[in-house]
Amino acid sequence: MNHTASIGNIRIGEGEPIVVQSMTNTNTNDIEGTVAQVIRMAEAGCQMARITVPSMKEVASLQAIRETLRARGYQLPLVADVHFKPQVAEACAAIVEKVRVNPGNFVDKRNFNQLHLTDEEYAASVQAMAERAKPLFEICRQHGTALRIGVNHGSLCDRIVSRYGNTPLAMAMSAMEWIDICQQFDYHNIVLSMKSSNVITMMEATRLLHDKMNQNGTVYPLHLGVTEAGAGDEGRVKSAAGIGALLLDGIGDTIRVSLTEAPEAEIRPATLLAHLTEENDKVQCILHDNSLKINYQQNNKEKWMMVCAAHASHTLLHHPFKELEIENDCFSPKECQYLSELILQACRIKMTRTEIISCPSCGRTEYDIQGTLAKVKERFSHYPGLKIGVMGCVVNGPGEMADADYGIVGATHGKVAVYRGKERLTAPLEVDEALAYLEKLITT
Ligand code: SF4
Repeated sequence: MNHTASIGNIRIGEGEPIVVQSMTNTNTNDIEGTVAQVIRMAEAGCQMARITVPSMKEVASLQAIRETLRARGYQLPLVADVHFKPQVAEACAAIVEKVRVNPGNFVDKRNFNQLHLTDEEYAASVQAMAERAKPLFEICRQHGTALRIGVNHGSLCDRIVSRYGNTPLAMAMSAMEWIDICQQFDYHNIVLSMKSSNVITMMEATRLLHDKMNQNGTVYPLHLGVTEAGAGDEGRVKSAAGIGALLLDGIGDTIRVSLTEAPEAEIRPATLLAHLTEENDKVQCILHDNSLKINYQQNNKEKWMMVCAAHASHTLLHHPFKELEIENDCFSPKECQYLSELILQACRIKMTRTEIISCPSCGRTEYDIQGTLAKVKERFSHYPGLKIGVMGCVVNGPGEMADADYGIVGATHGKVAVYRGKERLTAPLEVDEALAYLEKLITT
């Protein structure tokens, strides 16, 4: 059985067009600023806007934002993004059309104090989560609110990691646990997502979840996104590689292209992907031994890059390759070579530059992340094999920069801290001080 989700005036799932969404990065308590940003997103074509609600202090603002938007004639559904606090999710469920919860931090902890659970302990832990989620389902049912079960590779809980490791399977099993819980309470207005900054992990986890739902005979809609994809060409290529490959496989119902740019800038690339299959007849993919050649004559650079990335990555899902040749008479051989390198890097086939993982930022970010990302790219792009995270906040940043070697992570009042892996190395510093510190770490 295939379920669709109803989110305000939008339906997601079986047979419905792909829905494009994005997320604000203003402080949610800045009501006018957030309303203005949602309006810019809606005017650009965004069909659903997500807003972070870190605590009960932002709940009244969420209500005011919704009322102001409706009064100004904007009906797009709003989604509250909630981590760590079930009571905040419950409050939001009575206000907006959809609530996103993260199974990794809804109730469970991530302190790795207990790495081995017996089957009884495991089952008891899942049941405790179900009991805590029960009021949320009741409020959602009462208000017609949908839920997104948003699994992130960087924030899987102890229970899941203890049994499945930090793997795509663990992500899929985390979602399957929540599907079981939703079904226990006969609640089906859900969308699921499997996000990672690693394109291959995101694709594998989503395909595993898709297969498991099909095996169980109940399929719910899927939200696709590559998290912390970065900005500019790299961010677009990485997003297209992950999201596009799955869409070409017929998987995915709603998408977000997460860029470290203004949220409205995400809408055009996301809309390109939503219409990706319309280009299929114009894209020629020839696979010979270990080498893939893609010929796609297109003079719009963004479209060209994203469509090629999607087709290359889609090929990789079915046939491994090592070399990639891009042909397009509208661009120079150097530009074709540049795109080929970006795609091979996004698919983790060949690393020719530093892998920079940067979050799109949200209401938790208190420093200039876009300016800092530009500085990091300028100073540190020439270390193939090195991974640097540029993350908006300390709450989710260190976990979600995944396997980055180093990180610049937002602290309060415009400052950032430097991390090595998950270890914080510095107190909050000014950005330029932090970058100088990072340079010493990398070069000595
Ligand atoms: S890492 Fe923090 S700032 Fe960045 S998107 Fe996630 S919650 Fe927001």
